Amino acid sequence: MFLKGRTAIVTGSTSGIGLAYAKALAAEGAAVVINGFGDAAAIERDRGALSATSGAVALYDPADMTKPHEIAAMVARAVVATGSVDIVVNNAGIQHVAPIEDFPVDRFDAIIAINLSSAWHVMRAAVPHMRARKWGRIISTGSAHSKVASPNKSAYVMAKHGIDGLTKTIALETATDGITVNCISPGYVWTPLVENQIPDTMKARGLTRDQVMSDVLLAAQPTKQFVTPEQVAAFALFLCRDEAASITGANLSIDGGWTAA
Ligand code: NAD
Repeated sequence: MFLKGRTAIVTGSTSGIGLAYAKALAAEGAAVVINGFGDAAAIERDRGALSATSGAVALYDPADMTKPHEIAAMVARAVVATGSVDIVVNNAGIQHVAPIEDFPVDRFDAIIAINLSSAWHVMRAAVPHMRARKWGRIISTGSAHSKVASPNKSAYVMAKHGIDGLTKTIALETATDGITVNCISPGYVWTPLVENQIPDTMKARGLTRDQVMSDVLLAAQPTKQFVTPEQVAAFALFLCRDEAASITGANLSIDGGWTAA
């Protein structure tokens, strides 16, 4: 349990990839703060299971990633409750699929706030605590869309390319402080986020559900396999190891070969 005594905040961890990160970090003994929306009883079950796994405290923080003051308060609460914030995983994210002229402005604003700006606010609040202890790991969930584009995803592609730039910048700012800053960029991972964009993609491109799966989603992925949340989480766990101390400022693909093409 190499993360005993460490505290990890994972934004957007009530579901999908975020919950997989939280489970992996807890399995190595970290005190984990989970965050995101969902059914209160299910969240409480997950929180209890994380604490049982880690043998450390596990907390749920309902901070809304569109609200900077709630993000700062989440980091402050974690420090009060556990004494530190050593690992942050910026993972909260939403998607909306539409051509630019039909793209609702409120969806654009929400995607930029949740998928991009929240990571900046979390880092701003957490970095001083990491600097004080001369150790930190900041991992953001990028996407293949941090490197390449797809039509009808202007806000998402813009936000994920921004994550790449933010990662590089804060890696440089913290390089001598024992802190590493990286993003992991998955291809298509089978989670509710992907499931939920199928109807909009069907509408936008005039395709059936099966056609969206084969011709849009897995078409980009040479392995023709969805990435699993557990594979992404295992990668993040490696970045928390001392052996990964020299990996910083990197945008690390886990995309079945998508961005090799
Ligand atoms: P998901 O929908 O399963 O999970 C998203 C999480 O974000 C949930 O916990 C949700 O409650 C939370 N969230 C949404 N809005 C929030 C807000 N305002 N404040 C706090 N939390 C909020 O999605 P996922 O597929 O697990 O996606 C997680 C991350 O992985 C996202 O950043 C996404 O862009 C990225 N990603 C996903 C894929 C994929 O194929 N699924 C691929 C590449 C990158």
